[in-house]
Amino acid sequence: MAFGEFDLIDTYFTRRWPERDDVVLGVGDDAAILKVPEASELIIATDTMVAGVHFDKQTPARAVGHKVAAVNLSDLAAMGAEPAWLSLALTLPEMDHDWLTGFSHGLREICAYYDCQLIGGDTTKGPLSLTVTAHGFVPVGAALRRDGAKPGDWIYVSGSLGDAGLALAAQQQRVEISDSHYRRVLERLYFPSPRVALGQNLRDIASSAIDISDGLVADLQHILKSSNVGARIDVDEIPLSMALTGSVDADQAISYALCSGDDYELCFTVPESRRGVFDTAIARHPAKPTCIGRITSKAKDLRLERNGEVWEGMTGKNGYDHFS
Ligand code: ADP
Ligand code: MG
Repeated sequence: MAFGEFDLIDTYFTRRWPERDDVVLGVGDDAAILKVPEASELIIATDTMVAGVHFDKQTPARAVGHKVAAVNLSDLAAMGAEPAWLSLALTLPEMDHDWLTGFSHGLREICAYYDCQLIGGDTTKGPLSLTVTAHGFVPVGAALRRDGAKPGDWIYVSGSLGDAGLALAAQQQRVEISDSHYRRVLERLYFPSPRVALGQNLRDIASSAIDISDGLVADLQHILKSSNVGARIDVDEIPLSMALTGSVDADQAISYALCSGDDYELCFTVPESRRGVFDTAIARHPAKPTCIGRITSKAKDLRLERNGEVWEGMTGKNGYDHFS
């Protein structure tokens, strides 16, 4: 008998996967049965990755498996949620065992790391595409949202920005960088780290939060719009990796950080009154957040500054135009 859909699910997505106590019934029936903890709200996010659009043929299957979960866990992180369950809709052009092995390893590794269980999905034939839905919990009323920023709040970003964009530019030969820098930034493009622990730490602290998938400028603007506020950013405060600053000139590095996507860091706002608690909460965090500016009352106005003056790097010959 040919290796069919059920063999595929059994071989790659069932045996030796992490299990959780709150899953009454996982893969195998018509639907999953799940227990939501009392006094919690369920947080749900879905993201799709399409071959040729969100990743290309060079992308290792293990990276695709990691990333399709990571982008969803990053959405949960931005809500302050604790991840619990994932489901997977998989569309495959053919039965490719090497690809499925790599993909399922990548997905299983990140599930194990974040204590998530794959609770079901769907498998169809067609152009390669993956959709993951992630489910998580927050205590009732405690979720982080985009609409809570207030004038005077401080703006932070976690980790460093621009690396994934540099990796993509190098891969597409739009920029030339050293092998060691390339390895560094490619790791960030292929294996992003969703800031799950940080998001949960921010629950009682941040007034708003978002994850950076489309670039700081684009994503911060979602907070500004939802919260009906503006922002001042000091471009020299934006955290940049040595791989980025060592590969392009200073204003270009800032432009990557501002405009290129795929970093999956968190951008969030902290009221002055919560700053002490916040500093304690994040003291030992591995992707330690950096303060980059402040929320203003000027609705939807994003002002990029250097030494208090408007920063011109975005419109200069090395800047923003590269990304538009
Ligand atoms: P149905 O036809 O009832 O929708 P399916 O044949 O699509 O059932 O799926 C059988 C079982 O396998 C279900 O529990 C479903 O959630 C699970 N499943 C299907 N595809 C996947 C996948 N890619 N990953 C994980 N579980 C899957
Ligand atoms: Mg089905």
